[in-house]
Amino acid sequence: MKADRVDKIRTTHHFRTRLGQWFELLKVPNGNPALTAAQFEAFSKQVPLLYFILATNMISLAWTHQGTAPDYLVIYLPSFFIALFVLRSLIWLRGRKRQRTAEQAYRQLKATNLLSLPIAVFCTGWSLSLLPYGDAYQQAHVAFFMAITVIGCIFCLMHLRSAALIVTVTVNLPFFVVMCLSGHPTFIATGVNVILVTMAMIMILVSHYRDFRQLHESRNVLMLQQQALQEQNKAMQVLSDENLRLANLDSLTQLANRRSFFAMLETAFARESSTDGKLAVGVIDLDGFKPVNDLYGHSAGDKVLIEISNRLSTITDPRLSVYRLGGDEFGLLLQGDVTEDSANALGAKVCELIAERINIGSGMVQVTGSVGFAIYPDVGETGQEIYELADYALYTAKRHHRAGTVIFNAVQANELNRQKVVEEAMVAADLDKELSLVFQPITCVDRRICIGFEALARWQSPRIGQVSPAEFIPVAEHNGRITLITRMLLARALKTATLWPDDIYLSFNLSPHDLTSPENILKIVAIVLKSGFDPRRINFEITETAVMHDFEQASASIQMLRELGAGISLDDFGTGYSSLNHVHKLPLTKIKIDGSFVRNIHTRKASFNIVKSVLAMCAEMELEAIVEGVETEEELHILENLGVRAVQGYYFGKPMTADDTLKRLALQDTKALAS
Ligand code: C2E
Ligand code: CA
Ligand code: CA
Repeated sequence: MKADRVDKIRTTHHFRTRLGQWFELLKVPNGNPALTAAQFEAFSKQVPLLYFILATNMISLAWTHQGTAPDYLVIYLPSFFIALFVLRSLIWLRGRKRQRTAEQAYRQLKATNLLSLPIAVFCTGWSLSLLPYGDAYQQAHVAFFMAITVIGCIFCLMHLRSAALIVTVTVNLPFFVVMCLSGHPTFIATGVNVILVTMAMIMILVSHYRDFRQLHESRNVLMLQQQALQEQNKAMQVLSDENLRLANLDSLTQLANRRSFFAMLETAFARESSTDGKLAVGVIDLDGFKPVNDLYGHSAGDKVLIEISNRLSTITDPRLSVYRLGGDEFGLLLQGDVTEDSANALGAKVCELIAERINIGSGMVQVTGSVGFAIYPDVGETGQEIYELADYALYTAKRHHRAGTVIFNAVQANELNRQKVVEEAMVAADLDKELSLVFQPITCVDRRICIGFEALARWQSPRIGQVSPAEFIPVAEHNGRITLITRMLLARALKTATLWPDDIYLSFNLSPHDLTSPENILKIVAIVLKSGFDPRRINFEITETAVMHDFEQASASIQMLRELGAGISLDDFGTGYSSLNHVHKLPLTKIKIDGSFVRNIHTRKASFNIVKSVLAMCAEMELEAIVEGVETEEELHILENLGVRAVQGYYFGKPMTADDTLKRLALQDTKALAS
C-alpha cells in the first residue's frame, strides 16, 4: 500500500518534471547571454523571410476565395495582417544594424515568441474559417496553405525553437482535428501526413538547435582561449620591453649603458657606411673623479656621476646620444654632417658642463673632463675600430695632461702604428737577452758629487732596433709582461748596486701594475731580500697614475716597501692633476720634480714659481726634492739659488752602463781623496 503511494508520488513528480521540461521548451532560454545574442543575430536574418512566406501565402489563399467568401475574410482581415507583416518586416530590417545587448536581444526574442501565438491562432482560425465557403479545390488549397505555411514557418523559426513549437502545436492540432472530422480520406491522409512531416521537422529543429549551441560554445571557448593567449602575449611583451629597457639602461645615471652604446654604434655605422654618411664617436673620461671618491666616499662619487649625466643630457641636439660606458667614462654618438669643427664644439661644450662645480651635499667639488673623438669616414673601418680610435685620442689627451678635446688624427695614427709594431716585436722578443739597464747619476748640488743612480731600461730589438722605454714600457704594461720585466731588471739593478760604495743609493722605477696586487709587491720584496742589498739604499719611483687606479691597494703596497726600509719617490711631479691630494696621504720620502719645469726656467716665470712652491711644500712636509732634466749650467744655477739640493740630468751625466757607473764612482773617490 505504502509502496503504491510512494510509486504514485514518484510518478506524479516525474510527470510534473517532464511537464516542466516540455513547458521550458516553449520559453526563450536565457541562461547564456552570449548564446542568446548569437541566436538573435541568426534569427533576425530570417524574420523578413518568415513574414514574406506568411504574406504571400495569405494573398494566394485570399485570392482563390475571392467572391466565394465574405469580404471581411478575403479583403479586410488579410489586408490588415499583411500590413502588419510588412510593418514588422520593416522594423526587423531597420533594426538589423543596431547593436543590442544580450538583454535587449533576449527581450526582443521573448516578444516575438509571445507574438507567435496570436499570429498562429489567427492564421489557423482564418484559414479554417474559409473552409465552408469553398469547393473541393479551394478546400484542398486551404489544407495546402496550412501545411506549407507551417513547414515554412518551422524553417524560418529554426533559431527560435520555442516559437517554432508554439506555431507547430497551434496550427497542427486544429488542422489535424478538422481534417479528420471532414471524414474525407484525402484530407485525413493529408492531416496525418502533415503531422508526421512536422514531427520529423521538429526533430531536425531540436538537433539543429543543439548543434548551434555546441558550435557557439566551442567558438566561445576558442575565442576565450585566443583572448587569454593575446593577453598573455601582451603581458609577455610588456615584460620583455621592460627587461630590454633595463638591460640597456645604466641604473645609477639613467643614461643608456655600454651595451646600448655598442649596439647603437653598430646600427649607426651600418647606416652611415651604406649611405656615405658621417659619424663621430666620442669617449669622455673625468679627471679628478677618483680623488672625490677617495676623499668623500662613494656616495659623493655617485652624486658627481649623476649630476654630470644630467648636465650631459641637457645638450639638445637630435643627432647626439649620450651613454655611460662604466666608471667615470661616458660615450657620445654624433650623426649627420659631422666635421672636426662640430666635434670640437661639442667637446668644448661637454668639458664646460663637466667643469662646473658640483654640490655633493657636504661641500662643492670640481672635476674636469677630457674627450677623445674619432670621425668616420676620416678614420675607422668598423664601428668597434672607430670607438678604439676615439679611446686612443682620449688616452693621448690624458697622457699629455691636456684636459679638453682631442680628435684622432694622423699623428696619433702614426703613434698607433708604431705601437702595433712595438707590440708585435715584443711578442717575438727574448727580453732576457735584449733588455739591459743603464744608470743615470743623481747629484748632490752642494758637493757636486753623485749620491745615487736611477736605473733605466733599454731594449735593443733585433727586429726594430733600439726602442725607448717611454715606448715599450706602456706596451709591456698593456700586454702584461711588465711584472716579469720589473722582476728581471730589479734583480740586475741590485746586482750592479752591490758593487757601489755604501753611501750610493739605487733608484728604481716601478710601474702601476707592480703595485696593484699583494702578490706582485711580495715578489719585489723577496727579490730585494734575496739580493742581500740594504733595502735602506733603495729608492722606488712611482708615478701618480699608479695611485690613481686603486688608491687603497697602491698605498698598502707602498707601505710594505716603506716597512722594508726602502724610500719612495713620487716621479714626474707636477704633470698630474691632483698631485697634492696624494702627497698628503702617502708615506713618501722624495718628490721628483719633472724636467718640463726646468726647461727655460730662467725665462719662464710660471715654471720658476711652480718649482719654488713645490720646494716650499717639500720643505714643510720634510720631503727631499730632486729636480730632473737639468741640462745647463744656467738651469742649475737658478735651482741652486732656489735651494735645490739634488738634481738629475744630462748636465751631470747621461744614463750610463753599469761599468761606467763604477768608473764614475772611482773617479769621484780619487777626487775626494785629492781634495
Ligand atoms: P723617468 O723615470 O722620468 O726617467 C727619466 C727620463 O728622463 C729618462 O728617459 C732619462 O733618460 C731622461 N733624462 C734624464 N736626464 C735628462 C735631461 O737632462 N734631459 C732630457 N731631455 N731627458 C733626460 P728614458 O730612459 O727614456 O726613460 C723614459 C721613461 O721610461 C722613464 O721616465 C720611466 O718612466 C720609464 N722607464 C725607464 N726605465 C724603466 C724601468 O725600468 N721600469 C719602468 N717601470 N719604467 C721605466
Ligand atoms: Ca723615474
Ligand atoms: Ca721622471
